[in-house]
Amino acid sequence: MAHVLKLNEDIIRGIAAGEVVERPASVLKELMENSLDAGAGRIDVEWREAGRKRLRVSDDGEGMTPEDARLSLERHATSKIRNLDDLERVGTFGFRGEALPSIMAVSRFELLTRRADAPEAWALRAEAGRVTFDGPAGAPGGTSVTADDLFFAVPARLKFLKSDPTERSLLFRAVEDAAWAAPRTAFRVISEGKATLSLPALGGEETGMMERLESLWGVDRAQSLKPVDESGRFMRVRGWVSDVNAPQSTARYQRFFVNQRVVTSRRLSHALYDGYRGRLLVGRHPAALLFIEVDPTLVDVNVHPAKREVRLSHESEVHDFLSRAIQKALGRSVQPRTVFGAPRADLDVPPEFSPLPTGISSGVGRGSFAAPKFQRGPSTAEVQAAFAVQSPLSFFPGPGGDRLESSQELTPEYFREAKFEPVAQLYATYILARVEENYFLFDQHAAAERVLYEVLSEKAATGIPAKQSLLLPWVWEPSPEASAVVLAQKMDFERLGYSLEPFGGNAWRILAVPAALAEGDKVRSLLEGLVDDILAGRIPRGWDALVTRAACRGSVKAGDPLALPEMGHLIQELQRAPRPWTCPHGRPAFLRFSDDDLAKRFHRV
Ligand code: ADP
Ligand code: MG
Repeated sequence: MAHVLKLNEDIIRGIAAGEVVERPASVLKELMENSLDAGAGRIDVEWREAGRKRLRVSDDGEGMTPEDARLSLERHATSKIRNLDDLERVGTFGFRGEALPSIMAVSRFELLTRRADAPEAWALRAEAGRVTFDGPAGAPGGTSVTADDLFFAVPARLKFLKSDPTERSLLFRAVEDAAWAAPRTAFRVISEGKATLSLPALGGEETGMMERLESLWGVDRAQSLKPVDESGRFMRVRGWVSDVNAPQSTARYQRFFVNQRVVTSRRLSHALYDGYRGRLLVGRHPAALLFIEVDPTLVDVNVHPAKREVRLSHESEVHDFLSRAIQKALGRSVQPRTVFGAPRADLDVPPEFSPLPTGISSGVGRGSFAAPKFQRGPSTAEVQAAFAVQSPLSFFPGPGGDRLESSQELTPEYFREAKFEPVAQLYATYILARVEENYFLFDQHAAAERVLYEVLSEKAATGIPAKQSLLLPWVWEPSPEASAVVLAQKMDFERLGYSLEPFGGNAWRILAVPAALAEGDKVRSLLEGLVDDILAGRIPRGWDALVTRAACRGSVKAGDPLALPEMGHLIQELQRAPRPWTCPHGRPAFLRFSDDDLAKRFHRV
């Protein structure tokens, strides 16, 4: 080891930049927070190539003098705190004095600023941290910061960036967070050259927040929210949470603010889910926008370089207070809609008293029996073990080759032509059907998925998707990022059977929907669900993945009660499908067992 040397200023800056600036969205967050700290009434944001090529934030805030502008690029230069005492009760977003120097260190940077009383504006330009211009310029009052070619000087960092849609989605989220925290500020976003979002400044405390919610989270989602407002000894919580009947398929729509600062906190998330305990299905999430106000001295904001996490004293009181406030907002008297005749999940029935699934439903009338969705139905493996049945693949020359192991010759032709007679629904998940001396057990979801998959992809292959025109076109107003997904994958959605046209701003007019999905209210939530899946990275790019997902989302689920005619209809449709043996994911769609199988199982032979 050679001598210990003090690192030069460039390297120190580069290292520090990594802490604050990890991706375009973190740059955007810092710049908007600076604008808000400068008292901006209006913030304009612009990005190109998801922020890699250009990121610009302009405001009409107080601006800086040339001296201050120069100083602001030095590390630990801040106008916001003066001493340790101030750190105890910071009311501004920034205080560490690290953002501008860090951003400057990794981009082609320009700071353009003017105080209202200054005769002219001042510009500072820099490349990878070195100032290349320092002089007067023309500009209106306020500040505009541009970071071009982000990370051009640190290519290693570029490799950690995700795809454009993902980075863009994070940019939108950053705007969203600033917009929640600053209702009195107007925001405008130009994304990839297109005016994408325009949020007017709101007057009063909460008036208009609903409008902002509709613009940012989409109209349907916003309108399903319930208000929360609860005051306690240490704190107050206000905001909105989703109704138990309108759960989300992702955890994306959950934001917590502590004293106007957006935070992530496991404790707060836990408290949120705790408020919904027993009322959400597995894989479902609440939406929540919650503003928590506590005495600033009880919060430590200086625990994370990007100030994303906070430490709260009295954590467990905050937790309990929050989950009780949510329970109250949801109203305990509401029955979970998803359960038909199942035990009330919110009553916390001790397990030994919970009604056992009765097993077999007559199939007459809906709701006569259903597996409580909160309990696990029998797995395929368990059914297999119980009946010692074999997968249809062992009877039919399916994709696995021709292995005919059964005593009776069951062929694809036999399956297709058989006259199935549905007998009962088991656990609201399986359909028991008889054909001659054979009994078949269908997995209703797997079967329905296969049917829908074939319909959707077959129609798409012919180039003529079966569309159902809507008598009344439906105007869909999703969030800006959801709208961007639809724009990018418009062809795929059209191939699925949707007809969509832009309808101003982020809105779309839906003129037709896939015919196979046209019934019921599903078709609306399906489109939203698919977009959510894409945003959450759950659908790999590509057409097949989208159809598979659409088939899954559009199909009858395990736990949905079916009447006998519906069961018969589903089986007939499966009989017509080209590959009826499995669902598109490869799970068996049905199992067969015969008199012989049962006889063996009961040791009769
Ligand atoms: P911090 O926000 O932690 O103080 P920054 O590096 O983000 O550190 O900014 C340094 C200083 O530059 C701020 O304290 C503020 O005085 C000034 N500044 C930055 N952005 C703006 C802006 N948009 N308008 C006015 N002043 C700004
Ligand atoms: Mg700052």
